[in-house]
Amino acid sequence: MKISNDIFSLRDDLKNKNNVAFVPTMGNLHEGHLALIKQAKQHAEYVVVSIFVNRLQFLPNEDFDQYPRTFDGDCDALNKLGVNHVFAPNEEILYPDQQEFLLTLPSIADTLEGKFRPGFFCGVTTIVLKLFNIIQPQIAIFGKKDFQQLHIVKEMVRQLNIPIKIEGCEIIRASDGLALSSRNGYLTENQRNEACNLYHSLQKIKQEINAGNKSFDTLQEAAINNLSQRGWKIDYLTIQNRNTLRTANIKDKNLIVLAAAWLGKTRLIDNIEI
Ligand code: AMP
Repeated sequence: MKISNDIFSLRDDLKNKNNVAFVPTMGNLHEGHLALIKQAKQHAEYVVVSIFVNRLQFLPNEDFDQYPRTFDGDCDALNKLGVNHVFAPNEEILYPDQQEFLLTLPSIADTLEGKFRPGFFCGVTTIVLKLFNIIQPQIAIFGKKDFQQLHIVKEMVRQLNIPIKIEGCEIIRASDGLALSSRNGYLTENQRNEACNLYHSLQKIKQEINAGNKSFDTLQEAAINNLSQRGWKIDYLTIQNRNTLRTANIKDKNLIVLAAAWLGKTRLIDNIEI
């Protein structure tokens, strides 16, 4: 497995490869990331994984400095999986100057995550577009755990005519249902025991809707009240149209429940497709 820190050596290595799959990450890899990589391997002979904690997508008061960085362990795991190339640039390589060219995003980027993390999707799309231009893969894999991110990246690729196929990977969960996340490591033992209830609330809504309950507002309120009583602070927990990510209408067939909520100082996100 090759490891590059600079764009020149990466491009040199990629110049004769015409079947490349790419998986962008911020490192601190867990089984969720590894599922993306296994999926990437099914599509391409050559798999590139990037590890870069992207400052542009963190608000000033967020956990950029604290974000877990475990490069050596990550490389061991990637090597074992048979990844071909790790691209791990530093900030001077990717942002040698202030990044002044930024995308103007559609209004969907100001909802849900974007409402609570202003500028987040501008930071995400900027780094993803830069990495796409550097690596020029044929396919890139993103996790459904960050469903709105996957949606916005797909739209970016479509509207900007970027010749890369975007594929989603199912959410990988711990045995109690908690979606794996690098931020789970911030949880205390008690919080970790509580954390699976976010997913269980989403599951309950799914069961109700599948049983014919169309009272979306009531279902959302009940879940929010229940979690609030258990000590959660909810940013949003909402039933949306899965294709548009707009508020669901009772006639909509493809639904998704998306949630973001705090346990103490840790913010968790999750979703369930219906
Ligand atoms: P991150 O390192 O958090 O930026 O995540 C890198 C990629 O891994 C993103 O496409 C995430 O959606 C995906 N990912 C993170 N956690 C999971 C999970 N539990 N299941 C599936 N994909 C995940």
